[in-house]
Amino acid sequence: MPVFYECQRCTACCRWPGQVRLAEGEIARLAGHLGVSEHEFIQQHTRLTDDRRGLCLNDKANGECTFLEGDDCSVQPVKPQQCRDFPNLWNFPGFRESCRALPKLVSNREFVERAAAATGRPIWEIRVPGKDDAA
Ligand code: SF4
Ligand code: SF4
Repeated sequence: MPVFYECQRCTACCRWPGQVRLAEGEIARLAGHLGVSEHEFIQQHTRLTDDRRGLCLNDKANGECTFLEGDDCSVQPVKPQQCRDFPNLWNFPGFRESCRALPKLVSNREFVERAAAATGRPIWEIRVPGKDDAA
């Protein structure tokens, strides 16, 4: 059975080092939410990714995401897909040392439904972990 991780909104993933890559359409959505032009948004809130192939969100001097305000994401309704997908559709070895999401054993169907709800993705985009690994 797959494990679904219930996010506890601890915001650790908004504080650790890394890059929040911006996918197509996300700049326009974030800029619209903030009421600034896409150009202004890019200038104020983004930088080149390390591989120079795209843009990612800026960090504050202390390493936090530019949009973390206290214990809240200030762009929650339009936060990037990369943020929504963690930790159920992507994570990394040892992530649970920092992430407080609660693991729940669920059926394949429940995983798909819950991951779709958590990430905003359609159910046909949800891959159940481990299901096709033997192929
Ligand atoms: S955009 Fe929001 S959810 Fe994503 S890292 Fe920044 S503060 Fe966290
Ligand atoms: S995904 Fe994990 S680290 Fe990020 S806010 Fe949720 S519980 Fe915290």
